[in-house]
Amino acid sequence: MYFYVPTKIYSERDCVKKYASQWAGLGKKALIVTGKSSAHNGALKDVTAALKEQKTEYIVFDETEVNPSVEQVMHLRGLGLLEKVDFVIGIGGGSPMDAAKAAALMIAQPDKEAAYLYEKGDDTALPVVEVPTTCGTGSEATPYAILTVHERRIKASLPHRVFPVFSLVDGKYLLGIGKDTLIDTAVDALGHLVESYVNVNATPFTHMLCEYGMHIWNDNKKVLIGANRTVEECDALLLASTLAGMAIAHTGTALPHGLSYYLTYEKGIPHGRAVGYFLPGYLAAAGPLVKKQVLHLIGFPDIQYFTAFLHKLIGPMQVEDALIAKAVQGLMENESKLRNVPYRVTEDILYQICSSAPGCSIK
Ligand code: NAP
Ligand code: ZN
Repeated sequence: MYFYVPTKIYSERDCVKKYASQWAGLGKKALIVTGKSSAHNGALKDVTAALKEQKTEYIVFDETEVNPSVEQVMHLRGLGLLEKVDFVIGIGGGSPMDAAKAAALMIAQPDKEAAYLYEKGDDTALPVVEVPTTCGTGSEATPYAILTVHERRIKASLPHRVFPVFSLVDGKYLLGIGKDTLIDTAVDALGHLVESYVNVNATPFTHMLCEYGMHIWNDNKKVLIGANRTVEECDALLLASTLAGMAIAHTGTALPHGLSYYLTYEKGIPHGRAVGYFLPGYLAAAGPLVKKQVLHLIGFPDIQYFTAFLHKLIGPMQVEDALIAKAVQGLMENESKLRNVPYRVTEDILYQICSSAPGCSIK
């Protein structure tokens, strides 16, 4: 058993500004990888102010795609080399945070082709700083980056490990987030907690993180139903997400994530929502004791209540049977997900998991 998250994580109000002297001078010039929303939620302004204060140059790339692609990472590599940047800052949800990690890897490997992203090898990367603005992926505490691979019509995690050097976690950036994004990302965090807890790689360390994460999630799940939120509630959901990231950094994710990638690629269903459809079935197939523990921690008397709550949050799963068949076939060949599951996975079990999703037509 071991625990390894070598990231300096500051999780408090105004940490971007407070700790600027530590992170903003990681190099002479930074590449900021972000989307459009960080200009409105205050995160980009805080980061650039801190860089200016430390007299660090920077360039901003604010066109990160949702579910960033290999092609976009290669574009970022070209930009980073041209501008001679020496560290990378990801600001946003998992999309910019993962793109920042992958770009940092490829900038440090200037002679490698795009195929290197999916080859095992040297993980040397430029230093990465992450500033999360959603409460889902936990990418601020994981070494993972997940990219869209158009050539294979799928999303897939890189085999490389790139932990951020610093993560600056402040719930104030989530105050104005859209309701759907809040729900989708909070359900993703729940997916990480459940899939990490029901996982062959789980240890007392990861159980501790998941148990506390689920406790916080349970205490704050009403925010997902209501119309308003306070900054303290945003802090809490973000904390649950960071703890979940620390847990999956050790255990990896499992079947719901493996199935979700097909729905996101083919139908554009947001990541967390696509994961959420498969959570009741994944839990239902687990042993009775672990199932009872998880349901108790997230505050549901049984699987039916849990499914009904998710149905209310994320709606029915409306995908064709052919896509479910493709996801099941694909996952049966995805050893990296199957080996994390603490029960024997068969096609029948995968179909059962799919048919437990709210609104699924396969029965
Ligand atoms: P996202 O794709 O990063 O962002 C979703 C949407 O939310 C975007 O339209 C974004 O706008 C907007 N947004 C972000 N923060 C906002 C804020 N504070 N206020 C208003 N709008 C905001 O969503 P995500 O669910 O966080 O990340 C999903 C990606 O992470 C997927 O590629 C998934 O595979 C990956 N992932 C990674 C890990 C890991 O360990 N690395 C784990 C799980 C999932 P803009 O685009 O304009 O910014
Ligand atoms: Zn996820």
